[in-house]
Formats: sequence, structure tokens, C-alpha cells
Amino acid sequence: MAGSSIIKNIMGKDNDFVAMPHTLCPCCRKKEEFIVIDTRLRDISKIHNQAVGMSEKPCSDCQAIIDKGYVRLVVIDEQRSGKNEGPADAYYTGMIADVKKEAWDRIFVGALPPKIGVGFIPLEVADLLHLDTSSYDRETGKKRT
Ligand SMILES: [Zn+2]
Repeated sequence: MAGSSIIKNIMGKDNDFVAMPHTLCPCCRKKEEFIVIDTRLRDISKIHNQAVGMSEKPCSDCQAIIDKGYVRLVVIDEQRSGKNEGPADAYYTGMIADVKKEAWDRIFVGALPPKIGVGFIPLEVADLLHLDTSSYDRETGKKRT
């Protein structure tokens, strides 16, 4: 990526104590890059351009939708997800349904909307909500093209 090579060459040479890793948006999995500078000038080049985990908050694109009063429902495949709850172990189908907060109360009676504005629902719940899940192939676990 052009930006990251500029960062690495701040002082005219490739600096191993500067790196630009990224986290992933817990909602849409978009990369969010950030700059790390090791103040003791140690070599941190191994994290350059690497994913270093899931961000704790949604990316600016997702946040803009949440700020308009929506909860983003990320549709996951529970059969393919890991044992732990949460984005790190979830198998993303690539589908996100945006639900108005007013509608949330009618759909999920008695359940509070998630604090960060992002919730995870399995395919079976997406079916109950009559969401169109035809873009996801349940046999292969891949998006249909
Ligand atoms: Zn996002």
C-alpha cells in the first residue's frame, strides 16, 4: 500500500521501528490501518501490513450508519464459527442487515440493542426475519458470484 511505504520511509530510509499494521472492523471487516512507532527503536517490521486483531469499535463507514439510528446485524454461519462468541471467532457470511432502532424493539422483544450498534445473528435467525440470504452458499460457506 502506498501510504504505508511512505510511513516506513519517513526519514528517507526503511525504518524497522515504524510499522503500519491494521485491525478489522468487527462489522464489515474493512481494514483500519494505524501507525506504530517503537520508541526504543526495536525492529517491529514483522507486524507491518499485518492484521493484528479485531477493532473494538466499528469503522467510520459502519459508525455513520449506526449514527443514523440503525443497528447493524451481521449475519454469521454458526456451523462454521468457532466456539467463542464475538467477532474474532465468527464466520462472516458477508451479509449485513441494517435495522432501525424502533424496529429492533419490535423484532427482539425485551432485548437491548448492542452497545456498539453491531449485533450478530445466525443464518437461522436471518431466515426467521425473512432476510434475503441467497448471496451466501451454505454448502460451501462462500459468497455466490
Ligand atoms: Zn465497518
